[in-house]
Amino acid sequence: MGNSRFLSALSATEYQQLTNKLWKMQSHKCFICEEEIDLELHDTNIDHIRPFVTGGKDEESNFALTHDRCNKAKQDADLEVAKRIARLDKIIKAATQKGESPSLKHVLIANGGSKYDFRFRVVGNELEYTFDKADDITKKDVKYSLMNYRVKKQHILTCRLSIFTMMMS
Ligand SMILES: [Zn+2]
Repeated sequence: MGNSRFLSALSATEYQQLTNKLWKMQSHKCFICEEEIDLELHDTNIDHIRPFVTGGKDEESNFALTHDRCNKAKQDADLEVAKRIARLDKIIKAATQKGESPSLKHVLIANGGSKYDFRFRVVGNELEYTFDKADDITKKDVKYSLMNYRVKKQHILTCRLSIFTMMMS
């Protein structure tokens, strides 16, 4: 929110009202981790969905509410990328807890129930996948401890999944 004139211009009360409004619009869920936000317990943050620096509008329609910790953890990834990373994180955790090693299979199963049409192909040791109805994602390099994502235009998310075993058969 540091670069938002819109947010800086709000009074504390207006900021709280916007927080409440986004919280309701998002069904009380954090935009990044998609877990519940408890406004009493959690520090929250309002941020641009499409970053201001890449042409995102500084207005209400481009704002989302997140846990403060989720927003801090995303570093300079944009919110849509941060959400994808959070989803993959959960897939990895769930597989690991079941004693399985995380693989493409888990990614595909998890996305089978997604509202997005999930398509993928393997190019070398990279997995390219696309969510047809994903919002605009501009090119961005995101460093992450487990994997590198390269987000290109046309909603293609390329990830080099170093710990993922490709299970294509
Ligand atoms: Zn969160």
